Amino acid sequence: MSTTMETLAIRTENKFRTLITKQSYKKGEVICAMPSENIMDKPNRFTVQIARDRHTHVGKLAALNHSCDPNVILDTEKMVMIARRDIEKGEELSFFYPSTEWEMQAPFICLCGASNCIHVVAGARFLPLSTLESHYLNPHIRDLMIELLKNTKQHLKNL
Ligand SMILES: [Zn+2]
Repeated sequence: MSTTMETLAIRTENKFRTLITKQSYKKGEVICAMPSENIMDKPNRFTVQIARDRHTHVGKLAALNHSCDPNVILDTEKMVMIARRDIEKGEELSFFYPSTEWEMQAPFICLCGASNCIHVVAGARFLPLSTLESHYLNPHIRDLMIELLKNTKQHLKNL
């Protein structure tokens, strides 16, 4: 599978980067592989979290913006980007950041306008379970959430 991402283009407007697709995709289709050569233990604005202590530089995919109603999924088990619904040529691609990010280095306010907008995008650990469950979640996020819930229960017991 290709990681060259020749079907994707970065558009820059007023220093704001967006990732655009140059072709259409059907729901469920694999768009490209996620790069995984450059792994680090801390996140930054060019990385995607792929496991508890692993963040990979994702090249062009770092231009993916967040949306609360996204059109792609990053699957960190198979290391691929998948169309979450039918996508038209020329559309901007976006994914739900908390589906990969547990605790983001640079939180921000979301203005996506979706009816289910989470407003503060800071990572999965800051979202209620009910919100997370309506999204695709990668296994490391699921594991970390279960751990957090267990610790909270323990903490309440010790009060
Ligand atoms: Zn939003």
